[in-house]
Amino acid sequence: MKKPLLNVSILLTVISQPVVAAERCEAVFGEVFNRTLEVTGPALLTQKQYQEFLNSVDGLLGPLKAPENLKVTMTEPGVGGVFSKDGNLIAVPTSFLKYGESKGSHPKFTTAILAHEYGHAVLNQNIKDYSKLWHSYETERTGSAERAQKAMRDTVEALNALRNAKTPEEKAAAEANKAKVFAEIKVSSERGTDLVKMLTIMTAYNEMFADTVSVVRFQDPRIIFKSLSGDALIASSVKMYKDPATAYAVRFSEKDLKRITLENRQFDKSWGPANLQQWQKDISATIANKEMHPYLLLAPARSAIWDAIKNKVRNPAEQPQILAKLLQVIGNHFEANFQDIKNAQTLNPMEMNQSLIRDIEKAF
Ligand SMILES: [Zn+2]
Repeated sequence: MKKPLLNVSILLTVISQPVVAAERCEAVFGEVFNRTLEVTGPALLTQKQYQEFLNSVDGLLGPLKAPENLKVTMTEPGVGGVFSKDGNLIAVPTSFLKYGESKGSHPKFTTAILAHEYGHAVLNQNIKDYSKLWHSYETERTGSAERAQKAMRDTVEALNALRNAKTPEEKAAAEANKAKVFAEIKVSSERGTDLVKMLTIMTAYNEMFADTVSVVRFQDPRIIFKSLSGDALIASSVKMYKDPATAYAVRFSEKDLKRITLENRQFDKSWGPANLQQWQKDISATIANKEMHPYLLLAPARSAIWDAIKNKVRNPAEQPQILAKLLQVIGNHFEANFQDIKNAQTLNPMEMNQSLIRDIEKAF
């Protein structure tokens, strides 16, 4: 029986369909420094070749630290890939299940996604050196399940105390305590709503950084687009929007989903008036769907990155500075814009891209 391999966190490439591991086809196990990499799917590359690939990504990190104690699994054919922050795990299929105009199973496509997931791990390893604020929201996220449990316990205790109160004095004290507990829960639940919104914005920066890792590694602004174009991932999204459970949502067609989730990840997409107008329409629709699509929000900024780095990606002197500079830009931009958690609620996507683009142009 298949069961989910990973307890997936917010940093998902695939949200609707977690990667699953069934029977082990070929098990190879090895260790480079403190990174383990296991191949459980039918191998297009050997364990050693996957390790060498990640070593080549390490060569692009410059002053950034390589992720510590990371566990990478190359699984049986599937869709997308996943990085789980909580377990420091990466899982990517050795090949993608095909769909539509699939270009086949070349190992380039899955290693491009491996580079992307590795990019999440790199950001996770380094971000607190670049933004204390980011780290504080992450820490708050980690404690949120515990806080919810405490709120539940406090509520049960307050209601029990009220039920058991005998004298008017006991009843008054229990009522006062109940009011206090409920007021605290209201404040904490408002904070929780703000935090969820903030985390979706952090995810958008995170996806942009992870895509850039792959773009720099392959020196190709369309590498993510090419890799995912023939991936059955899009089929699962189309299915999701046809599901009666998502009847509340803005209906996205296959064409919409390809534009939103794939074409917007082309780092050489041109942002003339027509594309910008469509992008704003898509942003409004994804907000209406109670999600700000993590690949969509910073799509225009991706093109500014490519403009800034296209002459540097082949230059051995400049290459190892690119990702560190970008992480610095992200850290500074986040610090400058999101000190107040309410700014996540009032975010103007166009202004966010414009100011980030100015920062990218200044930094490179
Ligand atoms: Zn991702």
